[in-house]
Amino acid sequence: MKKISNYINGQLTAPHSNNYIDLYDPSTGQVYAQVPDSTLIDVDAAVAAADAAFPLWSSTSVEERSRLMTRIADLIEANLERLAIAESLDNGKPIWLAKKVDIPRASSNMRFFAQAVTQFATQAHEMTNAINYTLREPLGVVGTISPWNLPLYLFTWKVAPALAAGNCVIAKPSEVTPMTAFLLSEICIEAGLPAGVFNIVHGDGLKVGAEIAKHPKIKAISFTGSTRVGAEIAKVAAPVFKKVSLEMGGKNPNIIFADCDYDKMLRTTLQSSFANQGQICLCGSRIFVERPIYEKFKKDFVAKTAALKVGHPSDDTVKIGAVVSQPHYEKVLSYIALAKEEGGTILTGGHVIHPEGYEEGWYLAPTIVEGLPHNCRTNQEEIFGPVVTIMPFDTEEEVLTYANSTVYGLSSTVWTENLSRAHRIAKKIDAGIVWINTWLLRDLRTPFGGVKNSGVGREGGFEALRFFTESKNVCIQF
Ligand code: NAD
Repeated sequence: MKKISNYINGQLTAPHSNNYIDLYDPSTGQVYAQVPDSTLIDVDAAVAAADAAFPLWSSTSVEERSRLMTRIADLIEANLERLAIAESLDNGKPIWLAKKVDIPRASSNMRFFAQAVTQFATQAHEMTNAINYTLREPLGVVGTISPWNLPLYLFTWKVAPALAAGNCVIAKPSEVTPMTAFLLSEICIEAGLPAGVFNIVHGDGLKVGAEIAKHPKIKAISFTGSTRVGAEIAKVAAPVFKKVSLEMGGKNPNIIFADCDYDKMLRTTLQSSFANQGQICLCGSRIFVERPIYEKFKKDFVAKTAALKVGHPSDDTVKIGAVVSQPHYEKVLSYIALAKEEGGTILTGGHVIHPEGYEEGWYLAPTIVEGLPHNCRTNQEEIFGPVVTIMPFDTEEEVLTYANSTVYGLSSTVWTENLSRAHRIAKKIDAGIVWINTWLLRDLRTPFGGVKNSGVGREGGFEALRFFTESKNVCIQF
């Protein structure tokens, strides 16, 4: 059985306890590898290595840091095939999707921040008899904690700005999908990243994540995951005044007006509902449709959803692979049962699928539910699977009330050709990200994050470089 290793002080190492956690292939439901079950001892070793590496890394020129990160980006690209297969095996997503989205984006994250840091500048404030200039200094040792849905993509989205800004990093990928982070540690060794600059400690959330969150030498935590765990991290970090960036859950509205570009909307809505088995924090799981086109949309959307092929991730014609784990599979099924209990009608899906030869894998048919009020649990709680609800609406005011009715506020999608309405809604919707007539179109320079229980702080572009640095003002009188 393959055992993956921690990456501490430039070395691939076994966990101190020598204990491991089983790693499952969601497409077969079978154990295929093992991940270190690390503890505080491993976290301490990583922090000591990072602390020792910090003076040199933080004083390494921006050009040299940028060069090393660009080399890592190149090596991710050179290993596209291998990384995509590993991501799919760990997560259950189609290989073609990992090849098209996850791995190229991991490489772009490294390349983007390698370049962004060369353009990062500070301000000067002039007075009549003095000048102020502001330094932005790396924080020291920082922690990143990331989830299973876009494993390498979100892992690098945090690690890249932290390293570019001159910090040394202790990173914890999800214990459910750690494989590509492990492969990245091999790539970092090959790229010649100095020992201790970047450390990966694998393991359980409570044993490793919580220890990183409360470690006195770790100055900041960048977390992506559930709102429940984000709240735990905030609780631990607050009394020690640790900087935190929290990217958490969502229950995103997809608002469709009758005047939209219908074909584009339908094509995109299929993706925004079910891409990555609906396991993208930005998926639009509550679909509100203006009444004049509700019946037509329902018919077309149900037909297209029912035609989506569910099956083994290695099949290039498959649109929906396996969901990530047995607990998650059971959670999604429990929400389908809840939707029925609450009076919803399943228009398509609502059941498990057993592809031939992979009967033990965790496959779910993409599911559309109708007939539920906006304020029921199914429409308020995050399901994070291939399940969406559709609801008609009559007025702009009414749909805004529905859209803003949850505790979440991550992203939103609006379909309309009416420019004034698009602007009005964008201003009034409770979300950190508003897509008009598109979905998941990303410019890495833009601020990324949520409002309400979806997030604290922003990632992306200079926002991320600001998070991973501290400003210091210097005032000189003439
Ligand atoms: P999770 O919160 O269970 O786990 C996320 C990470 O936190 C994992 O690495 C886990 O091991 C670790 N962890 C668990 N308990 C911890 C603790 N007490 N202290 C410190 N770390 C701990 O989330 P998940 O199930 O891996 O991912 C799904 C969730 O992530 C969904 O809610 C989804 O919306 C959210 N998500 C949000 C975004 C975003 O950008 N806002 C992006 C992707 C996923």
